[in-house]
Amino acid sequence: MCQYTPPAELVLVMDDTAGRHARRFLDEHWCRPHAADLRPQGDLVVTELVTNAVRHGAPPAALTLDCAGEAGVTVRVRDAGTELPRLRQADPGALGGRGIALVDVLSAQWGVDPGPDGKTVWSRLVA
Ligand SMILES: [Zn+2]
Repeated sequence: MCQYTPPAELVLVMDDTAGRHARRFLDEHWCRPHAADLRPQGDLVVTELVTNAVRHGAPPAALTLDCAGEAGVTVRVRDAGTELPRLRQADPGALGGRGIALVDVLSAQWGVDPGPDGKTVWSRLVA
Protein backbone atom coordinates (compact mmCIF):
# COMPACT_ATOMS: atom_id res chain seq x y z
CA MET A 1 0.00 0.00 0.00
CA CYS A 2 1.02 3.58 -0.61
CA GLN A 3 0.47 6.31 1.95
CA TYR A 4 0.58 9.06 -0.66
CA THR A 5 -1.35 7.95 -3.70
CA PRO A 6 -4.37 5.63 -3.74
CA PRO A 7 -4.88 3.13 -6.55
CA ALA A 8 -6.61 4.71 -9.54
CA GLU A 9 -8.47 3.49 -12.60
CA LEU A 10 -9.24 4.99 -16.00
CA VAL A 11 -11.85 3.55 -18.35
CA LEU A 12 -10.24 3.63 -21.78
CA VAL A 13 -11.79 5.12 -24.87
CA MET A 14 -10.83 2.63 -27.59
CA ASP A 15 -9.48 4.99 -30.24
CA ASP A 16 -6.34 6.90 -31.21
CA THR A 17 -6.73 9.27 -28.26
CA ALA A 18 -6.33 6.46 -25.71
CA GLY A 19 -2.58 6.90 -25.25
CA ARG A 20 -2.91 10.62 -24.70
CA HIS A 21 -5.71 10.14 -22.17
CA ALA A 22 -3.64 7.50 -20.41
CA ARG A 23 -0.61 9.78 -20.06
CA ARG A 24 -2.81 12.58 -18.72
CA PHE A 25 -4.19 10.09 -16.20
CA LEU A 26 -0.61 9.32 -15.14
CA ASP A 27 -0.01 13.06 -14.67
CA GLU A 28 -2.84 13.11 -12.16
CA HIS A 29 -2.28 9.82 -10.35
CA TRP A 30 1.40 8.87 -10.61
CA CYS A 31 3.00 8.58 -7.14
CA ARG A 32 5.75 11.16 -7.22
CA PRO A 33 7.04 10.64 -3.64
CA HIS A 34 7.78 6.97 -4.34
CA ALA A 35 8.22 6.75 -8.06
CA ALA A 36 9.10 10.06 -9.72
CA ASP A 37 12.13 8.38 -11.36
CA LEU A 38 9.95 5.67 -12.89
CA ARG A 39 7.63 8.00 -14.75
CA PRO A 40 9.50 7.86 -18.10
CA GLN A 41 9.27 4.05 -18.11
CA GLY A 42 5.68 4.34 -16.94
CA ASP A 43 4.76 6.51 -19.90
CA LEU A 44 6.35 4.09 -22.38
CA VAL A 45 4.91 0.94 -20.83
CA VAL A 46 1.42 2.38 -20.42
CA THR A 47 1.43 3.70 -23.98
CA GLU A 48 2.37 0.25 -25.33
CA LEU A 49 -0.17 -1.61 -23.20
CA VAL A 50 -2.95 0.82 -24.04
CA THR A 51 -2.08 0.79 -27.75
CA ASN A 52 -2.10 -3.00 -27.76
CA ALA A 53 -5.51 -3.03 -26.08
CA VAL A 54 -6.94 -0.57 -28.60
CA ARG A 55 -5.49 -2.38 -31.63
CA HIS A 56 -5.89 -6.00 -30.61
CA GLY A 57 -8.32 -6.01 -27.69
CA ALA A 58 -12.00 -5.38 -27.22
CA PRO A 59 -14.00 -2.95 -25.09
CA PRO A 60 -14.58 -2.39 -22.28
CA ALA A 61 -10.98 -1.69 -21.31
CA ALA A 62 -9.43 0.03 -18.32
CA LEU A 63 -6.03 1.12 -17.05
CA THR A 64 -5.19 0.83 -13.36
CA LEU A 65 -2.26 2.32 -11.50
CA ASP A 66 -1.17 0.97 -8.15
CA CYS A 67 1.84 2.16 -6.14
CA ALA A 68 3.37 -0.26 -3.65
CA GLY A 69 5.99 2.10 -2.24
CA GLU A 70 9.49 0.58 -2.27
CA ALA A 71 8.14 -2.45 -4.13
CA GLY A 72 7.41 -0.33 -7.19
CA VAL A 73 4.44 0.67 -9.28
CA THR A 74 2.14 -1.77 -11.05
CA VAL A 75 0.22 -0.75 -14.15
CA ARG A 76 -2.50 -3.00 -15.53
CA VAL A 77 -4.55 -2.80 -18.70
CA ARG A 78 -7.51 -5.12 -18.92
CA ASP A 79 -9.81 -5.55 -21.88
CA ALA A 80 -12.49 -7.95 -23.04
CA GLY A 81 -10.42 -9.42 -25.88
CA THR A 82 -9.30 -13.03 -25.77
CA GLU A 83 -6.20 -12.72 -27.96
CA LEU A 84 -3.18 -12.89 -25.66
CA PRO A 85 -0.05 -10.87 -26.40
CA ARG A 86 3.12 -12.93 -26.72
CA LEU A 87 6.76 -12.01 -26.62
CA ARG A 88 7.99 -12.62 -30.14
CA GLN A 89 11.26 -12.00 -31.87
CA ALA A 90 11.22 -8.34 -32.84
CA ASP A 91 10.66 -8.57 -36.55
CA PRO A 92 9.39 -5.62 -38.56
CA GLY A 93 6.16 -7.35 -39.49
CA ALA A 94 5.23 -8.24 -35.93
CA LEU A 95 2.98 -5.40 -34.97
CA GLY A 96 2.57 -5.46 -31.24
CA GLY A 97 5.45 -7.87 -30.78
CA ARG A 98 7.91 -5.03 -30.57
CA GLY A 99 5.71 -3.24 -28.08
CA ILE A 100 5.70 -6.20 -25.75
CA ALA A 101 9.48 -6.53 -26.19
CA LEU A 102 9.77 -2.94 -24.93
CA VAL A 103 7.51 -3.73 -21.98
CA ASP A 104 9.72 -6.76 -21.25
CA VAL A 105 12.87 -4.64 -21.17
CA LEU A 106 11.42 -1.87 -19.01
CA SER A 107 9.50 -3.99 -16.49
CA ALA A 108 10.89 -5.74 -13.43
CA GLN A 109 8.13 -8.25 -14.12
CA TRP A 110 5.22 -8.40 -16.52
CA GLY A 111 2.56 -10.89 -17.39
CA VAL A 112 -0.80 -11.69 -18.90
CA ASP A 113 -3.64 -12.95 -16.73
CA PRO A 114 -6.49 -14.46 -18.73
CA GLY A 115 -9.87 -14.18 -17.07
CA PRO A 116 -13.47 -15.15 -17.74
CA ASP A 117 -14.19 -11.74 -19.28
CA GLY A 118 -10.98 -11.12 -21.21
CA LYS A 119 -7.45 -10.54 -20.02
CA THR A 120 -5.23 -8.27 -17.96
CA VAL A 121 -1.72 -7.35 -19.07
CA TRP A 122 0.36 -6.00 -16.21
CA SER A 123 3.81 -4.58 -15.62
CA ARG A 124 5.67 -3.89 -12.42
CA LEU A 125 8.18 -1.06 -12.52
CA VAL A 126 10.89 -0.89 -9.88
CA ALA A 127 13.55 1.79 -9.38
ZN1 LIG B 1 3.49 5.62 -3.60
